[in-house]
Amino acid sequence: MQKLSADIVVIGSGPAGQKAAIQAVKLGKRVIVVERLPEPGGNCLYYGTIPSKSLREAIIDLSRFNERGFCPIDYKLGDITVPMLTNRLQQVIDEEKKLVSRQFKKNNILLLEGFARFENPHTLVLVDADNRPTYEITAMNFIIATGSKPRNPHEVPFDNDVILDSTRLLGLSKVPKSLIVLGGGIIGSEYASFFAALGTEVTIVDKKSHILPMLDSEIGIHLQTALMEIGLCFLGKKEPEKIFRKDDKAYVTFKDGSTIQADALLYALGRTANVDSLHLENAEIELDEKSYIPVNALFQTRTPSIYAVGDVIGGPCLASTSMEQGRLAARHACGVQTHHFPHLYPIGIYTIPEISCCGYTEEELIEKGFHYEVGRAYYYEIARSHIVGSSVGMFKILFHSETLEILGVHIVGRSATEVIHIGLMAIGFRAKINYFIDQVFNYPTFAEGYRIAALNGFNKMHRN
Ligand SMILES: Cc1cc2nc3c(=O)[nH]c(=O)nc-3n(C[C@H](O)[C@H](O)[C@H](O)COP(=O)(O)OP(=O)(O)OC[C@H]3O[C@@H](n4cnc5c(N)ncnc54)[C@H](O)[C@@H]3O)c2cc1C
Repeated sequence: MQKLSADIVVIGSGPAGQKAAIQAVKLGKRVIVVERLPEPGGNCLYYGTIPSKSLREAIIDLSRFNERGFCPIDYKLGDITVPMLTNRLQQVIDEEKKLVSRQFKKNNILLLEGFARFENPHTLVLVDADNRPTYEITAMNFIIATGSKPRNPHEVPFDNDVILDSTRLLGLSKVPKSLIVLGGGIIGSEYASFFAALGTEVTIVDKKSHILPMLDSEIGIHLQTALMEIGLCFLGKKEPEKIFRKDDKAYVTFKDGSTIQADALLYALGRTANVDSLHLENAEIELDEKSYIPVNALFQTRTPSIYAVGDVIGGPCLASTSMEQGRLAARHACGVQTHHFPHLYPIGIYTIPEISCCGYTEEELIEKGFHYEVGRAYYYEIARSHIVGSSVGMFKILFHSETLEILGVHIVGRSATEVIHIGLMAIGFRAKINYFIDQVFNYPTFAEGYRIAALNGFNKMHRN
């Protein structure tokens, strides 16, 4: 077993680990990244964000989804094959993989392959796939960025072609004619909409009465309506009792006695932290009640020299937030000035159509007793939407009815995940609603929706 030492060891090479490692190197530290997969990039690159978003783009392009707004397209299920989709996916993964490897190399970050486990709070041992120790690494600080995996109960008979989780789904060899998606959270809703756009008959099932319940409810309803229009069926207030496979079909029986069946089933009822092989007890770290690693506001675990960032500490479980957590943890570990994780950040949900939001929802404003007004702009009021053939969607801006400060921005529709950043900046700089009215916006753009929504809200106040 080879012995090594470093200032900082990062466990995991996903978005959180990458940004932590690069920040630490930029601050002059000797950094080692350990990764159990043969290539760097994390679940984000191989099973999460990148493949799912690449699939989405490929489906939209190949099925000429956006052209359907102009004229009927002679598209049918089967026109797009799995090899057509995976070919694109693989190209994106390869490019991203090269980018991550280049960044590690350029920054002199030593990347070691192996499964990390703690011997004590300052020593890590790497073992290979046959459980043989390969390296012993000592360091001042460790940053745990081991991510998460689908939460798969033992009683669900997962396989590789009919009963799937979000990782197994990427290995499908044919596009199913029908699909049940269990779980109306982000991952379930995204994949449900992708397959609906492909022409699969999709039924999404949740125990709540609508999908994505954390959204501003008006935006959630707008999305659900748009999804129904592309053929997706939603069954709310349903709790599965048994999931099973018979011949080549997936079946779900519910607590109310009903049963549904389809060619495939995506089980998307949550994720769990990747901590099993870390031997955290040797580092004096205990898990919280949801089996995530608890940390303080500086991302330190109970053992202050060991930090944890990204999905392994629990929500919001986004690549975007994980990167910033990694960077902030590394800054603190290097003893330089840092700040707390921002309380304001955007959430992007890549359903078709996509959603993005930041700031308060209307429900939160009501609960907190704010005096507020709402400005709305519908995509059919925006010239750009007509040009690209996509008039489904809306902007919703919430602002204080006395101070006029913008309190929340919620967008569903084309480019929502891009244009949200205008709203993010406006809220961050405590802009007032009239800021959007007094500026000239490029025309024709989706961003013009801000101006239309601001005028709508402002005019309402003047009427009252
Ligand atoms: C289907 C899907 C779609 C998503 N879409 C989006 C999106 O659009 N936008 C967004 O912001 N987020 C999205 N996410 C979430 C995002 O992928 C995660 O938040 C992000 O990957 C978390 O990054 P991380 O660095 O914490 O962990 P990961 O990306 O999970 O990487 C952790 C790494 O640690 C390694 N590791 C684990 N244990 C060990 C060990 N013992 N020793 C060595 N290495 C180890 C793993 O092999 C892995 O490479 C999506 C997730 C999924 C599943």
